[in-house]
Amino acid sequence: MVFSIHKITHIFSRYLLIHSILFSLAACNSPESSHTELVFGGVVCTITLFEQGKDSVYRDIFSRLREIENLMSVNIPSSDVSRINAAAGVEPVQVHDDVLKVIERALYYAQLSGGAFDLSIGPLVSLWGIDSDNERVPSQTEIDKVLPLINWRNIELEPQTKSIYLKNKGMSLDLGAITKGYAADEAAVIIKKANIDRAIIDLSGNILILGEKKDKSLWKVGVQDPGGNRGSYMGILQTTEITVVTSGVYERFFEEDGTRYHHIFSPSGGFPVNNGLLSVTIIAHNSMNADALSTAIFVLGYEKGISLIESLPETEAIFIFEDYSVRKTTGVNFTITDNSYRLID
Ligand code: FAD
Ligand code: MG
Repeated sequence: MVFSIHKITHIFSRYLLIHSILFSLAACNSPESSHTELVFGGVVCTITLFEQGKDSVYRDIFSRLREIENLMSVNIPSSDVSRINAAAGVEPVQVHDDVLKVIERALYYAQLSGGAFDLSIGPLVSLWGIDSDNERVPSQTEIDKVLPLINWRNIELEPQTKSIYLKNKGMSLDLGAITKGYAADEAAVIIKKANIDRAIIDLSGNILILGEKKDKSLWKVGVQDPGGNRGSYMGILQTTEITVVTSGVYERFFEEDGTRYHHIFSPSGGFPVNNGLLSVTIIAHNSMNADALSTAIFVLGYEKGISLIESLPETEAIFIFEDYSVRKTTGVNFTITDNSYRLID
């Protein structure tokens, strides 16, 4: 999937809007500085370091984000993930520790979600081409052809040799649903090593907040209004140090004959998930877990999703539905600010 220039500009402006919401809500104490760069194929990534935010720390963070992109992008032919995909059905591929960690965790969530989250979703992502220059509704025959390739059980991870093998030709991994979370956690490692106490990592949809506000009040994070303009929020989450990750139908999509086709797929049916949900927000402590969960829970839907969330420690969720009703788990401090939405107990 390759962005055209106009698409980069479009995505850049919409993500900046999201950032500005978080920023105006969260940054009651003015930050020392804040840096924004496009990483992950054009995603706006903004890091805000409060106090002692040196240029060298920003440089280290962005070079780490790029290192992760260079290892995990399916659009970079030399990346480990591209090499794994090219060797599908042929041979195992030795990978970097970062890639091994992310694939290991992705496999864990594939199993935990009963395959709702499936890192072998690559053939479906390519077929639909959502948000690329080739986006289109494929025929049922085309979908039926790729569905047998989507099966996380056909991924072999060999820890001893640090290698990954896709058992069947035509299989391909896509780690887009988990890698930004890992990248946010890795940015946090650099920030903590630099002895910076307070920071906001915002990787468009993946937000990680470190430390306490100076006045000890809670951070405020706006939750994107899935039915509104980019950057508009429908409610405010008040929280301490936490990660907030959202998956939604508004993130990447196209419309044809009045139907919206978005980027989160049912691995069993081959179509964008259509279960009445507009978005799922996960609130947790580890951003990689929250990223995988936001996608997994979106695919599982409300009933199965909420029972999975309730089985996990220190993990909360907000569900927004097509009829603008909202449900949340009990541990979330969340207030609806847009009265087109209504909270259901
Ligand atoms: P999430 O809900 O976290 O993830 C949705 C994404 O996961 C989908 O876009 C799809 O890729 C995948 N997915 C869909 N259904 C499932 C499922 N059932 N189980 C598991 N995964 C699923 N975008 C570009 O347009 N061009 C690029 O060059 C590009 N490079 C990237 C490189 C990296 C390393 C990463 C992490 C992302 C890149 N992206 C690129 C963006 C990527 O394609 C996804 O769109 C993005 O990561 C979605 O994140 P999200 O938080 O919006 O949604
Ligand atoms: Mg995700």
